[in-house]
Amino acid sequence: MFSGANGCKRVHSIEVEQPLEAERVEHSLLLVKGRLLPKCSSARQLKATLRLRGDRTVEQLTQLSAAGEFKLLFDLDSQEGVGESLCYLELRSCTGVRLISITYKPRNSSYKVQPLYILCQDEQSDREEELRSLIDLNLRLVQCIYAHKLQSAGFPNRTFTLNGSCCPFRSQLTREQALSKSENELWQHFAGEIIACPQWGHQIRLKFVAFVGCTTYDGPGVVASEDTSYANIRRHLRGHAALGGGGLALFGSAHFYAWPRTLSEIGDCVRSTERVDISRLPDESNYRRTYGGVYASTLGAVCHELGHCFDLGHTSEGVMGQGFDYLNRVLTVDQLTEHLPQRLVEGAAAESAAGSATARPRFTKLKLQPGVKLLDNYHNQRRHDSFYFARNCAVNPWPTHRLAQPELDVAEPEPAEIQINWATKEIISDKALRLVELRCNRNSLVAHYEEFHPEAAVHRFSLPASLWDLLAEQRSHYAFVLTTSGDTKRLSCDS
Ligand SMILES: [Zn+2]
Ligand SMILES: [Zn+2]
Repeated sequence: MFSGANGCKRVHSIEVEQPLEAERVEHSLLLVKGRLLPKCSSARQLKATLRLRGDRTVEQLTQLSAAGEFKLLFDLDSQEGVGESLCYLELRSCTGVRLISITYKPRNSSYKVQPLYILCQDEQSDREEELRSLIDLNLRLVQCIYAHKLQSAGFPNRTFTLNGSCCPFRSQLTREQALSKSENELWQHFAGEIIACPQWGHQIRLKFVAFVGCTTYDGPGVVASEDTSYANIRRHLRGHAALGGGGLALFGSAHFYAWPRTLSEIGDCVRSTERVDISRLPDESNYRRTYGGVYASTLGAVCHELGHCFDLGHTSEGVMGQGFDYLNRVLTVDQLTEHLPQRLVEGAAAESAAGSATARPRFTKLKLQPGVKLLDNYHNQRRHDSFYFARNCAVNPWPTHRLAQPELDVAEPEPAEIQINWATKEIISDKALRLVELRCNRNSLVAHYEEFHPEAAVHRFSLPASLWDLLAEQRSHYAFVLTTSGDTKRLSCDS
């Protein structure tokens, strides 16, 4: 008869949410989510031992939530050597034991994301190296979260590949010039400089996530104005951005104070309830006013803006909508549900620079009619942590998009021919359709989507009257089309 150290006589099992054995892990930070079943009246902790190559072991002791749930985060990249390696994870709590073998093979794709740290021409930074390493860690976490969330949506191992470590990028702008520019102007300027630069400009398969080093915050100005609203805090930030689209997602660096520098700090940063002193530091936490809130909202914004670079539109909830503030819930099991104010998510000018030409004002109060399909699945995920990719987002770029495909070093295939047939009110493509979305011109909010199974090989989609009305009569929406070959096209009546 088994018995826990605490005298518990129940026979427990440890359930792990994702079938790690079946999947090869391709990203370096591994998030393991699971629970002890049935509930134990005495066990409060779970011990995890990860055995890496060369018999090196890493141990973690984690608290179980009241429901017996746990989450663990491991760094698989600390292993010697490259290529494929086998790791063993042992989980123990009370009488429950679970052994899992994981194959780790770093992802390789010719389509990658390169992190940059932007310095002005006259800027000296003694913290540059430290900040670049902070950026690397946190982008690996974003990569892990994408993998985790896309796997939850039914698409395993669909995350993006990082091109390498964060590199410094020296801008031609002086610090003063950078600080005088708006968010959109900064995006336009730096996108232009990156394209023009010999090191990066010709690498058409790279997308960039860049952080502006010189961001400043005028805390005393906020205090003097007696207005502590987010909008006013934002007005007192200079050299700041949180904007993604096309090949560049651009951010300021003023919120790094709340970001972890090492793997072991991640949990503490997420849970931190330390109050933000807005006379010194900018708050960006959707009114939580805590370091943990700032970390969740600003890293959540990186996930969101990077989604725009991958061609995602807005959804009313989830990562691409109201939900990006809830990144903390991806990494914790013990946090209470938060009810945050409805956020007005930006409709980025950068998106319009990359896509349809109309400038889009910042977000909307429009409510999405959620697709009926797989609604249960959404609700499930939402119950769990509110930070999820809606079905159309998960289907959208990564599964088929070239950026997410493992290897496509062969010659580029011919681009798809996709057009609207005005007479028959159809979208016609010579490559099979995967997804058609109707997105609002103003804010790219997806009003409706249609998913096509790859095996169905559908080449024509006849637009129902209500959608044709939005596209061709009211002209308030455009169609975003994705084919099974990964080609995308935006079709509107004005193009
Ligand atoms: Zn027990
Ligand atoms: Zn957005």
